Amino acid sequence: MADIRPLVAGNWKMNGLRSAVAELDKMAATLKENPSKGADVMICPPFTLLMGVAKTFADSGMQLGAQDCHVNVSGAHTGDISPEMIADTGATAVIVGHSERREDHAEKDKLVAQKALAAWRAGLTAIICIGETEGQKRLDLTLKVVERQIKNSLPEGATAENTVIAYEPVWAIGSGLVPTVQDIKDVHGAIRKQLAGILGGEGEKMRILYGGSVKPSNAKELMSVDNVDGALVGGASLKAEDFLGIIDAYRS
Ligand code: PEP
Repeated sequence: MADIRPLVAGNWKMNGLRSAVAELDKMAATLKENPSKGADVMICPPFTLLMGVAKTFADSGMQLGAQDCHVNVSGAHTGDISPEMIADTGATAVIVGHSERREDHAEKDKLVAQKALAAWRAGLTAIICIGETEGQKRLDLTLKVVERQIKNSLPEGATAENTVIAYEPVWAIGSGLVPTVQDIKDVHGAIRKQLAGILGGEGEKMRILYGGSVKPSNAKELMSVDNVDGALVGGASLKAEDFLGIIDAYRS
């Protein structure tokens, strides 16, 4: 198995006023004092906070990411943000294809692939989200769905450097529900096999994050599953204490 440095990334979604920067400052101060040696750490706050927190992040070793991007560099796209604009803030990554974007904005695999390509164009790492719905799981379609999403959302040219895959069962997001360790092992194993089949050595080294109700209390168990190379964390990334508790899974 390839030696992969894990990533713990926090997705703040549509949360975080300027007052919430205090939580980011707490995370940054703790990590500056006591760096997370075992994993990279990233927060993806809303666009409105990116510029303001970039320097704090750079000083602490934390990475900064965004939650979505347009496919174009610039132009008449009211309300959208380009990958180049994101890179201009100092951020180094962007989440694409999160299930909430797929659902709220009807984003399909093809657009997700275009967004990943656009992210690379701007020098950003694309964190490509995939995962089955509750109904698909009930019909035993998980592996089929995930395989199709990878096939269609992962553009040619993906490397372990420019891409991270986040497996997030939709039914586990924000619900407190988590798949069994065996199910996570099976899905991540299938994803690894597919990535290695498409990309060879790059696929062997590509990070595959698990996301969906990760908390300090379950992080250690989930992060020790084969082919789980870190976490994408929603709710529990909003508070410094919780997020740092998850990062602790990589301290011992
Ligand atoms: C997410 O939305 O990416 C996520 C994993 O959310 P939560 O941790 O709250 O389930």
